[in-house]
Amino acid sequence: MSIADNVRELLEQISSGNAYGEKVTLVAATKMQTPEDINRAIEAGIADIGENKVQEFKDKYDLVKGANRHFIGHLQTNKVKYLIGKTYLYHSCDRMELAEEISKRSQKCGVVSDVLVQINIGCELSKGGFSYEDGFSAYERIKALPHVRVKGFMAMLPFEGEDDYLLSLVKKMRALYDAVRLQDKEVEYLSMGMSGDYKLCLQGGSNMIRIGTTIFGERDYTV
Ligand SMILES: *Cc1c(COP(=O)(O)O)cnc(C)c1O
Repeated sequence: MSIADNVRELLEQISSGNAYGEKVTLVAATKMQTPEDINRAIEAGIADIGENKVQEFKDKYDLVKGANRHFIGHLQTNKVKYLIGKTYLYHSCDRMELAEEISKRSQKCGVVSDVLVQINIGCELSKGGFSYEDGFSAYERIKALPHVRVKGFMAMLPFEGEDDYLLSLVKKMRALYDAVRLQDKEVEYLSMGMSGDYKLCLQGGSNMIRIGTTIFGERDYTV
């Protein structure tokens, strides 16, 4: 199947929304993909793309046309300056120091940046993010910064685990999202779901998914 076929099939699959009937935003995860392939995906209907390395974000910025640019990877504080004013949504705001830097740099450029608070929902050593228990206070502290707007939460599920356990983690995240959204209508995204687990995430109430492999095929890490 071509990239265009994959995009059309995915968009069709998510057209009925998540388990709550809410609209689902599909972000194409474009790491290691060429600008040509990314543009093919955009022509087929992708409106949002996400890079996870600053260098790739910069290199492809002018070569890719017509999509919202998300940043979905781990972000070093000293590289924030390259993204300010160009990033539609930062998914991986995983520590206070990063949130403060995004706010400071945004202020300098006269913009307000939209961020998601990343939660380490599986309590994994290999992953960044605030603990689930600290999720609400992290939201409050980041929201208090002058030049960022908190639009929701992002989390990654562990690669391994029974479906029941993984679904329970998505539902925990949805509960946190719901609790915050009750008092803050700016909060509108729960970004959870990759190629291997997006169906389960939509079932648990995610409304934003980040998909690479299902659109572009397996990434070749040997080149
Ligand atoms: C690569 C990546 C994805 C997409 O992964 P696939 O399994 O290829 O769909 C999603 N989120 C982040 C943060 C990624 O780096």
